[in-house]
Amino acid sequence: MKIVLLGAPGAGKGTQAKALSEKLSIPHISTGDIFRANIKGNTPLGIKAKGYIDKGELVPDELTVEIVKDRLANPDCEKGFILDGFPRTIPQAEYLDKVLNNMKIDLDATLLINVDDKDIIERMSGRRTCPNCGASYHVVFNPTKVEGVCDVCSTPVIQRPDDAAETVLNRLETYHKQTQPLISYYEKAGKLKVAQGADEVDETTARVFKALGI
Ligand code: ADP
Ligand code: ZN
Repeated sequence: MKIVLLGAPGAGKGTQAKALSEKLSIPHISTGDIFRANIKGNTPLGIKAKGYIDKGELVPDELTVEIVKDRLANPDCEKGFILDGFPRTIPQAEYLDKVLNNMKIDLDATLLINVDDKDIIERMSGRRTCPNCGASYHVVFNPTKVEGVCDVCSTPVIQRPDDAAETVLNRLETYHKQTQPLISYYEKAGKLKVAQGADEVDETTARVFKALGI
């Protein structure tokens, strides 16, 4: 399946993308993860992207779209893929349509994980991530088995710099202004499916699978 995940920052796209990736054996493509890997590796792309990300702004489209195009050309995407965090603007969605069209592939669905703003703020302030393997946790809703260290690789978990309180508000505002219009974009295209986010990760996963009919 070829799936786009939509939803506010902190709605749980990354977590659900991992579950989908395992269930369907297709790659999880997260532009946020790609940017973070580039920041960690101090690449030219990472250096350019960092300023925007730390402020809670979007990285400019021209830096973002090529990365996705290259990634989709990788043979592991032939069976399908889950796009998490892309597209995030109408121009990015139009670009994606063009790229997929050229590749003669069609999206199966765009899945919106729907979560209220007040829940988003609560979630992001408690979010912890593993700087080594990218696993994501929440101090209340999805804690690590041993306090403070990653279940997968035992690295101490951290709060992402852009999960700091002021940046979270900025990211939400950016989401409402720039990304939310994609909901009606995909609705008009007849691709939109919706799953209401639940507090429990497993419950959300069940709703996501159900919305996609898998
Ligand atoms: P979240 O969904 O929790 O906001 P992500 O890991 O998807 O987190 O993204 C982190 C940051 O990376 C975003 O706030 C944004 O600055 C940047 N980013 C990720 N994807 C895109 C994109 N498609 N276009 C522009 N900026 C992006
Ligand atoms: Zn880890």
